[in-house]
Amino acid sequence: MNLILFGPPAAGKGTQAKRLVESRKMVQLSTGDMLRAAIASGSELGKRVAGVMERGELVTDEIVIELIVSRLSEAEASGGAIFDGFPRTLAQAEALDHMLQHRGSGIDLVIRLKVDDQALMDRVAGRFAESGRADDNPESFRVRLDAYNTQTAPLLPYYEAQKKLVEVDGMGSVEAVAASIDKALGASHR
Ligand code: AMP
Repeated sequence: MNLILFGPPAAGKGTQAKRLVESRKMVQLSTGDMLRAAIASGSELGKRVAGVMERGELVTDEIVIELIVSRLSEAEASGGAIFDGFPRTLAQAEALDHMLQHRGSGIDLVIRLKVDDQALMDRVAGRFAESGRADDNPESFRVRLDAYNTQTAPLLPYYEAQKKLVEVDGMGSVEAVAASIDKALGASHR
């Protein structure tokens, strides 16, 4: 099964993806984690994306699509992929559909975590104080939220038209959101 965890930055996608990795033996494919690893390793790619990421803007479609391609076989060999933070543009969503189709699979379900903007800003202020993640500073977070609203949210009708979209209230506790996700997965019969 291939699943997209969809939602704005700091909605809890990463937390929920990690839980599904444990419970369902799926592979988390987080382009944000892959890009941060590239920066930490000091690679050419890392140097290219560091500034863009710190400002909260999106890196190019080509870069993230290539990162995803390089990990698809690993996901296929296990229980499937949980896409976390990808796709973020229509071009990425179309590329993902083509890649999966070519490999004889596809996206089974898109789970949208709904969290209101104020709650996101409160969460991220706490996270910034704790972890000091550069792009969690208030200015960059604003840019990330804008990128979500203008470039990523328009994917919702794309997946709705494919009848793959399920909405989950992301405002509750980690456990409550996890229970809602399990319910959505159970109901999908996949
Ligand atoms: P995330 O950890 O998913 O919030 O991603 C952190 C940052 O990495 C984003 O603000 C973007 O700069 C970059 N990034 C991650 N995934 C993507 C993507 N699918 N498309 C473009 N940029 C991305």
